Amino acid sequence: MHRLFHEFDITIYDSESYEFMCQCSQEKTEKMLLLLGEEEVKDILLEQGSIQFNCGFCGKNYVFDAEDVNEIFEFDVLEENRH
Ligand SMILES: [Zn+2]
Repeated sequence: MHRLFHEFDITIYDSESYEFMCQCSQEKTEKMLLLLGEEEVKDILLEQGSIQFNCGFCGKNYVFDAEDVNEIFEFDVLEENRH
C-alpha cells in the first residue's frame, strides 16, 4: 500500500511540475524591460527591430516591438528629443 502511494506521487510530480514551477509571464517580462531601462531597450530596438526574451525554464518566447515597448514605458522610447 505504501508503495502504491509513492508511485502515485511521482506520477503527479512528473506531469505537472514543469509548468507549475515556471513563474514567467508577459507581465514579468514587461517589468524586466523597465528594469533594463529605456537606453538599453532603445539600443536593442534600433539594432534588432524587436526585443525577444526566451524563458530558460519553459522555453516560452516573448517578443516586444517598438509599439509594445512604447506602451510599456508610456512614452516613445525611440523619440530622440524626449525630455
Ligand atoms: Zn517560463
